[in-house]
Amino acid sequence: MEVDTGALRANFGALRERVGSETRLIPMVKADGYGLGAVRVARALEPLDPWGFGVAAGEEGVELRTAGIDRPILVAAPLAPGGERTAAEAGLIPSVSDLAGVERWASAAASTGRDLELHVEVDTGMGRCGFQWERAAEWAPSVLERLGPRVRWTGIFTHFQGADDPSPNATITQWERFRQALEAVERAVGDRLRASLERSGVGLPLMVHACNSAGVVRFPELAADAVRPGIFLYGAAPAPAIPTPEATRPRPVAAVRARLLLVRDVPEGATVGYGATHRAERTERWGTLGIGYGDGLPRALGNRGAALVRGRRVPIVGRVSMDLTVVDLTDLPDAVPGDVATLIGSDGGAAIPVEEVAAQAGTISYEILTGLTRRLPRVEVSGSAEPEPVALDTGAGHARVE
Ligand SMILES: *Cc1c(COP(=O)(O)O)cnc(C)c1O
Repeated sequence: MEVDTGALRANFGALRERVGSETRLIPMVKADGYGLGAVRVARALEPLDPWGFGVAAGEEGVELRTAGIDRPILVAAPLAPGGERTAAEAGLIPSVSDLAGVERWASAAASTGRDLELHVEVDTGMGRCGFQWERAAEWAPSVLERLGPRVRWTGIFTHFQGADDPSPNATITQWERFRQALEAVERAVGDRLRASLERSGVGLPLMVHACNSAGVVRFPELAADAVRPGIFLYGAAPAPAIPTPEATRPRPVAAVRARLLLVRDVPEGATVGYGATHRAERTERWGTLGIGYGDGLPRALGNRGAALVRGRRVPIVGRVSMDLTVVDLTDLPDAVPGDVATLIGSDGGAAIPVEEVAAQAGTISYEILTGLTRRLPRVEVSGSAEPEPVALDTGAGHARVE
């Protein structure tokens, strides 16, 4: 598996252009940086000055700290009860979704003697976590009262469930709910918050954030104080169902390659793989690749997917097994053992985008990338050392929210 850190950085630059200089970027590096390596990704993006990094579990934040990442680390999902102390010692910023979570964080801060922060998540329709948006007037004072002497409430956010949907309506509705919750927080505790954070003037002194990748691409006017992109950085279109111009797509970052281990000519009638689901209709040349579902290549690609060998597309024949996958090289007589086959990525002028593999496997590119297993060594490449940011004119796919 190749990770093109030049492309990763170009994608970060494109998002920065899109949101403008007032909005901070919080690259989401959860699930080991979507399978590309969280520490590798964080180190590659560090020089571009992100606000910090986002993870989903305390342990993921601790891994970044241990690797020497000292920017803010937001845990954008509830901490597992009992995990507060480790998270506090690592100086993470948890997101809280209930008052009990605030209390546990306050006592972790007290017992470690550290000054810590938290962000409040607001549920505006995602339904996984967050305080209810309609009840902000009730929970906002209660959050403030439970912070204790060592915790500051510094951020508030929500998460869109449908920013990749062709219709903008779901996102418009969620934003409107979020806006109402922010107003209720301001009315209920605005003055006390400004006093506690020693800020004067008007406006909530909280970092406000909502957008994931699809949000940034389609609703840049909702970028607020910060955005939390993931998949776009990793080179996959956040809303593949929406036709957008070539220029709005991120640069591919990950490639998956395997070697041809064997090349054999087989007679008509020969069968391949478990269940013998492919039978040679003539003399065929089959190539055996050293990759399978044990590496994260979806089993659903059997008799459907393809590989690139010597810049040419060849079909996968038979079922994908755990360690081996067979391709039909009949039309590629020059192929020899040792040749590199590309399962995701480009070779010469040909390409198999991760979105294509995801569609063939009936899933999304997120699941393909995070499903690539540790058996695949990650190799850092920098195909575009000093990249130009890609343009992000979303054209047809862009829905405006006023
Ligand atoms: C995963 C995640 C993101 C990033 O989503 P992408 O679609 O990958 O950009 C942002 N915010 C939260 C809370 C997340 O869980």
